[in-house]
Amino acid sequence: MGAIRQKLVLIGNGMAGVNTLEHILKLSPDHYDITVFGSEPHPNYNRIMLSYVLEGSKTIDDIILNSWAWYEEHHITLHTGTTITAIDTQQKIVLADNGLTAAYDRLIIATGSNPIILPVPGHEKQGVVGFRDIADCSVMLETAKQYRNAAVIGGGLLGLEAAKGLLNLGMNVTVIHLMADLMERQLDPSASAMLKAELERQGLHFLMEKQTAGIYGGERVEGLTFSDGTKLESDFIVMAAGIRPNTALASASGIEVKRGIVVDDYMQTSAEGVYAVGECAEHRGVCYGLVAPLFEQGAVLAKQLCGVQTKPYEGTQLSTKLKISGVDVFSTGAFLDQPELTVIRKQDDWKQQYKKLLLKGDTIVGGVLYGDVSDSSRIQQWVREGAAMTEAIYAELMGAAGTTLSAADRVAQMADDEIVCGCNGVSKGHIVKAIKDNALTSVDEVKACTGAGRSCGGCIPTVSHLLQYVLGDEYAGQKTKTGMCGCTDLSRDEIVAAIKEKHLTTVKEVMHVLNWHNPEGCSKCRPAVNYYLGMLWPQEHEDEKDSRFVNERMNANIQKDGTYTVVPRMYGGVTTPEDLKKIADVAVKYDVKMVKVTGGQRLDLIGVAKEDLPLVWEELDMPSGYAYAKALRTVKTCVGQQFCRFGTQDSIGMGIRLEKTFERIDMPAKYKMAVNGCPRNCAESCTKDVGIVGNDGGWEMFVGGNGGIKPRIADLLCKVKTDEELVQIVGAFTQYYRLTANYLERTSEWVERMGIEAIKAEVVDNMDRRCELYQDILAVLAELKEPWSTTLEEERKSRYLFDAIQMK
Ligand SMILES: Cc1cc2nc3c(=O)[nH]c(=O)nc-3n(C[C@H](O)[C@H](O)[C@H](O)COP(=O)(O)OP(=O)(O)OC[C@H]3O[C@@H](n4cnc5c(N)ncnc54)[C@H](O)[C@@H]3O)c2cc1C
Ligand code: SF4
Repeated sequence: MGAIRQKLVLIGNGMAGVNTLEHILKLSPDHYDITVFGSEPHPNYNRIMLSYVLEGSKTIDDIILNSWAWYEEHHITLHTGTTITAIDTQQKIVLADNGLTAAYDRLIIATGSNPIILPVPGHEKQGVVGFRDIADCSVMLETAKQYRNAAVIGGGLLGLEAAKGLLNLGMNVTVIHLMADLMERQLDPSASAMLKAELERQGLHFLMEKQTAGIYGGERVEGLTFSDGTKLESDFIVMAAGIRPNTALASASGIEVKRGIVVDDYMQTSAEGVYAVGECAEHRGVCYGLVAPLFEQGAVLAKQLCGVQTKPYEGTQLSTKLKISGVDVFSTGAFLDQPELTVIRKQDDWKQQYKKLLLKGDTIVGGVLYGDVSDSSRIQQWVREGAAMTEAIYAELMGAAGTTLSAADRVAQMADDEIVCGCNGVSKGHIVKAIKDNALTSVDEVKACTGAGRSCGGCIPTVSHLLQYVLGDEYAGQKTKTGMCGCTDLSRDEIVAAIKEKHLTTVKEVMHVLNWHNPEGCSKCRPAVNYYLGMLWPQEHEDEKDSRFVNERMNANIQKDGTYTVVPRMYGGVTTPEDLKKIADVAVKYDVKMVKVTGGQRLDLIGVAKEDLPLVWEELDMPSGYAYAKALRTVKTCVGQQFCRFGTQDSIGMGIRLEKTFERIDMPAKYKMAVNGCPRNCAESCTKDVGIVGNDGGWEMFVGGNGGIKPRIADLLCKVKTDEELVQIVGAFTQYYRLTANYLERTSEWVERMGIEAIKAEVVDNMDRRCELYQDILAVLAELKEPWSTTLEEERKSRYLFDAIQMK
């Protein structure tokens, strides 16, 4: 007979408590009979990822950390939706709100925190929530369907994540912040200003140095008033003004509580056999609000509970990463300029990057990163270890004379004990050993085996690079295989390979030969297959209009009211008085509802009736601007050398040349370019698929930028001296993207997936390949016809044939 197990009860089924259980189960799986009580109706989930649920990129299922099956497998009795209301520390029993009781030998309190709801008049009205759990997230998702204006009180990490999520849900969002700088407890004023500017660009509004005085409205909130007498109308308010450790239960049970539940270096509370871990605990006067320290506490507590010798928990050096899509921010240790600290700083307003290191004497004591946070784990390690600044570190970090490392080199050079996953404390050495010992081949496997990447996910790119570093060519990349849509289990690559191998030429044939579950296909796979066929067999494939989206079938964008928009080409954003007059005449004659200047520097005739489309095209007698197509949309240009006193290159000339060369060709997704005459970047190259910047010696080419829902700053692909070389590389890059991207994959995602170095090797460094790609795209371009005039010609032909038949 085995030894009798002790009873371990956990109050709080959240990240810190369950992480402690995971350690216990690894150290001594048979030590305890475990019972867990959790107020929420869910198994343990990744609270950090709630922002992604709100943003729409993850579902609730995606963020579950421990499934129902996990509790069963480990014989854990789980009571969800059950709140513990009292602890009898004498009898060693806990009592739940539904009458359940449980006896314990050891008790862990892991009740987390509650969001602070500012006690201003009106705070109890409908439409005021915190941002803490799945229930709050569900309220936000529902609210966004019904209401338009949201206010978020608090410009810290949580407030900004909530605000961005609501913005993505289509709400008009204003962030109200008491201080002059956003995230002022993690960022210095420069990084904070860059962050604010970026978030404003993405569509958030800010009211800074505003103190909320009250909330007005009827039963439901209608707005806020501020201490300076001003007001803001709002249908929904998220309070993200901080968190307060959830100590009510401990305090009512006679356990010592200050700000949090007071614990010693082994997480023991004032009551015998009772421990506290996570945000509810106060250790050496500090309550933490990020997972890394909570997991460190959990590791110490697990050892303590399993009788394994352990070092005491002595506190944690905090670091923060903000995980709003399109904004990378990191800070650790000291971050503000102070007289006793030496500051090393590099600010790049063009690439929107900021790097700052703070030294006390020679010792690295803090750092702030904005834009590129790939150095975050190293800086965190140096700060943690109190490392001394050296010439080598300086050169590497500040990018002195060609010393900036690629991601691959960076992981190769990392020390084995360097921490890769800050949340779970997993080092490079641990990950590399796990990959080798357990033959791991994917990020998910590394996650499951080591815990790296399991919490905030910020280290996943580094884990992916480590897999590449260990496995070389055998590493297939981060993507897991999924069918293209519900009609087939085959992935994009398998479909493309089969089309090539079996020489399939029509959408119907592909679906038939490759055994589509749904023989008709769907709106997801039909346009994709049509694109792949055209990409693989440019000469042979006959475009299948029926497989295209409606806008592409009509050569115009359909609007809410069933009318269409007509956008003629204006190469490089340049027009003439004659063309302007023609556009004006057509707009008047066909009574278009609005003439709109677009962000891509051309004119959009909005509200053309379907039956008028051919007449409008005919009378304009201008080429189509392809505003409806997965193709080159616009080449935005600045004034450039011709007129601007700063201009060093002819941006307008180059823009027109690129637009005329690469228009009309089908692409996996819409494609935008910009050309600037100098690095002042007035035409915003950094957010384009291809962004060109002139300098004294030639051109710089940036790729993979995006200004849409998931903004991304473009990467530098190359610098060239001549116009010819530039056009050739733009052509090779565009063709390589056409050949390898998934249908609907923007270059911003594609560049991330392929890696900029790999793309560079193919389209810049390998001269033979570059020429081959360029020649291939030119051959396809040579065959293309202007769609509006072609459609008019075809109509004329069919009318003629119709008339001829009638006359017989
Ligand atoms: C939107 C969001 C984004 C975040 N982003 C980050 C980030 O990027 N990086 C980072 O490090 N951290 C982040 N955090 C913080 C991180 O999620 C928390 O630090 C962590 O979840 C705290 O773990 P915990 O176990 O202490 O508390 P929780 O995870 O809150 O778990 C406590 C659980 O106890 C339950 N409970 C409370 N009282 C009782 C009771 N009496 N009986 C039964 N159950 C009870 C609660 O319902 C809750 O489920 C974020 C938090 C949020 C909300
Ligand atoms: S990018 Fe340079 S050349 Fe172009 S308009 Fe601006 S300042 Fe002038």
